[in-house]
Amino acid sequence: EIYFDNAATTPLDSQVLEAMLPYLGKHHGNPSSTHQYGRRAKDAVESARNTIATLLHASPEEIFFTSGATEANNLALAGSIHTLRFRHFITSPLEHDSVLKSLDFYRKNYQIRVSLVETDAWGRVNLGHLQYLLQKNPASFVSLMHGNNEIGNLNEIEEIGNICRTYKAVFHSDTVQTLGKRQLNLSKVPVHFLVGSAHKFHGPKGIGFLYVNKQIHLQPLIHGGSQEKSLRAGTENVAGIVGLSTALSLAYENLDDTQKYLQKLKGYLIRRLKEVFPQLTFNGDSDQQDKSLPSIVNIGFPALGDRALVDILNEKGIYVSGGSACSNLVEHGSHVLRQLGRNLELENIRFSFSKYNTLAEVDYLVKVLSNIYEPQNVLQYAGAV
Ligand code: PLP
Repeated sequence: EIYFDNAATTPLDSQVLEAMLPYLGKHHGNPSSTHQYGRRAKDAVESARNTIATLLHASPEEIFFTSGATEANNLALAGSIHTLRFRHFITSPLEHDSVLKSLDFYRKNYQIRVSLVETDAWGRVNLGHLQYLLQKNPASFVSLMHGNNEIGNLNEIEEIGNICRTYKAVFHSDTVQTLGKRQLNLSKVPVHFLVGSAHKFHGPKGIGFLYVNKQIHLQPLIHGGSQEKSLRAGTENVAGIVGLSTALSLAYENLDDTQKYLQKLKGYLIRRLKEVFPQLTFNGDSDQQDKSLPSIVNIGFPALGDRALVDILNEKGIYVSGGSACSNLVEHGSHVLRQLGRNLELENIRFSFSKYNTLAEVDYLVKVLSNIYEPQNVLQYAGAV
């Protein structure tokens, strides 16, 4: 079995599991309890917060644990509407649904305005247009992701942050796909909010965090106890928090080597596929090394009649993500690929890698794909793109 769907979620690192186990077992205290068991749990939570803050060059009081990045994005957006009273939001049509659907909800129910920054056929955000929108609406709330989860495109968040600062805008960035994969130095990147989710970098599911710049004070989305300085009530997921910080530490320890390795895997896949398929359609900038995450490549293959390639690969034990634009096979297509104006004759496949993938797995994938697209289909394919 070959798992090439690491942008969806990654396998738990065994060292992370080991670090978590005591907090699922004998150290079962509630961090709000004042006795020894509670204190031990509280210490674990605060030590995790310190570790994450140090890695990001942030302060511990700027890190708030949540159930994941969906909640963190919702908290940043809801807080900015209810507490900070923002009424104008700027985002791109390529953001994750946890941003786009939240903004759509608030637009319909709370009279906020949402402007979309122009993006081109490669999924690149037009920063000139962002400046134009900010000139017309200074002091807006800008939400632009760092790495796109479907096509792997990277946005220049440092530059975007500087533009936002010029226009006194608040900047929120969904950094789920880049956290633990690229250096993120918050003393250099002017950002007010960013989010992380442990299961994207070999940590557990159901735990993440919101970074809130200390100049900003939000009111909660979830009300109750005084956990997380009353911004996020509810007993902390202690084992999850320990897993999150352990996974992030491990990711940072090996950041450069892992990057190089992923780049090698991705480059190898692209090279091998190009040998078999004379022309390939890459979605977004996923074949451009410096503009794209080394962990993601998104490719359009010719549609195979009434069978989905993603299902055929699944039968062969190769697990990838479809993410196709709307077609007869996929009822609710990907808004990202639709926005890019992708050819519906093609079935778009996202391959996403982790440190556990190997070159031999890439070889097997290429072999399976060349068997699926026999020589005559390859010719047809070359003509189709
Ligand atoms: N944002 C992006 C870019 C993602 O890829 C994901 C993961 O699916 C999320 C947000 C949501 O993260 P979580 O699974 O922690 O809710």
